[in-house]
Amino acid sequence: MGRLTVVPYPRGPQVRLPEDVQRRIKARVEGYREEMIEFQRRLTAISGLGPDNGGEGEEPRAQFLENYLREAGLPAPRRVDAPDPRVPAGRRPNLVLRVPGGDAPALWVLCHLDTVPPGDLGAWSGDPLEMRVEGDRLIGRGVEDNQQGLTASLFGLRALHEEGLRPPGDVGLLLVADEESGNRYGIDFLLSTEPELVKPSDLVVVPDFGLPAGDVIETAEKGILLMRADVHGRQVHGSMPHLGANAHRAAAHLVVRVDQALHEAFPASDPRFDPPASTFEPTKRLANVPNINTIPGEERLWFDCRVLPRYPLEDVLRVAREAAAGLEAEFGVCVALESEASFPAPPATSDDAPVVRLLGDALRELRGVEARTIGIGGGTVGLSGARCARRRVVHHGRQRPPTGGVRPDLQPGGGRPGLRLPICRAPTVGVGGG
Ligand SMILES: [Zn+2]
Repeated sequence: MGRLTVVPYPRGPQVRLPEDVQRRIKARVEGYREEMIEFQRRLTAISGLGPDNGGEGEEPRAQFLENYLREAGLPAPRRVDAPDPRVPAGRRPNLVLRVPGGDAPALWVLCHLDTVPPGDLGAWSGDPLEMRVEGDRLIGRGVEDNQQGLTASLFGLRALHEEGLRPPGDVGLLLVADEESGNRYGIDFLLSTEPELVKPSDLVVVPDFGLPAGDVIETAEKGILLMRADVHGRQVHGSMPHLGANAHRAAAHLVVRVDQALHEAFPASDPRFDPPASTFEPTKRLANVPNINTIPGEERLWFDCRVLPRYPLEDVLRVAREAAAGLEAEFGVCVALESEASFPAPPATSDDAPVVRLLGDALRELRGVEARTIGIGGGTVGLSGARCARRRVVHHGRQRPPTGGVRPDLQPGGGRPGLRLPICRAPTVGVGGG
């Protein structure tokens, strides 16, 4: 069994395994093919729905994984379970599996155990929990999101273990609950319980996003501001508008003015993002009156703002309030604009960061693609974050751990019924050696 010289990740132009070791690892991973398919099949059969989605939580999946790891001879994962009385087990599992390596920074791969519901069953070609193989595709609930990442990283770790290789730094898997419903019982719980677990110098990869070409690494996110507007007027009969204050009309003007003001005040664009500019979308609106001949006195509506990291979210709220200020006098209403939730953008990970460089090298060597870095418009701050001690995120006044990690490319399409997923090939975790 080989033992590699330990080489710290950040040094040297490129950290490479010797050719023969690379070949051995590749061959071993290829040899896992049938086992990986079977692993996916067994995992798919165990529902991973959290209670927010009407499920019983991730505990059965965690137990399956614990057994699987034991049978594979891998170290037992540590539990950092979050209490949750809504599920039969009373807890939401978070597993920390750490294989010791050399002195270099640890490499973490963060995957989530839960899935979203199957949605419209009629849109599936079979039972979503009964995985099927069609050619080189897997079809089943969760095979892509996030079982693909979980399977690839777990078998990658297993290959290292079975080849007797000692990685330059510790290699760990963080298998967390509750990713699909806000992370409170998952990564947020884990990192607030153990704030020292992931060090700022560690490398973190989150295989939970991707494009078909497999050539993107997500390194930046927009900030998110969910903004609520309340307009209070006075309700009257439709024939007597002069006696009331039409909240609907005032709200319509508010939408137009706020929309325009925000686009004018925050015009910058950043080509890493798609779309490259900040977005300010009026979205939800509460129903007002049930009948046509009543002039509504109350309106409530929301904006979903995705803001480039350079703009503070407080500035967005301030500009929106300024734009709405004139409405009160003009329409005889009261207007309140509030932040319902805000997730400031974490600092982007630099293209020169070791984790980005190593992942780029791995993609080049294993897939023959030249990866580019991209930013995305959020949804991911609330999703799995490689939340590594950089920034506090304020959510409903509650402090949440920060985010700031790297997502390697993977196949797209999470959450679509009948999703077809290419069977995993070699995992692309950036493990180096001397
Ligand atoms: Zn996911």
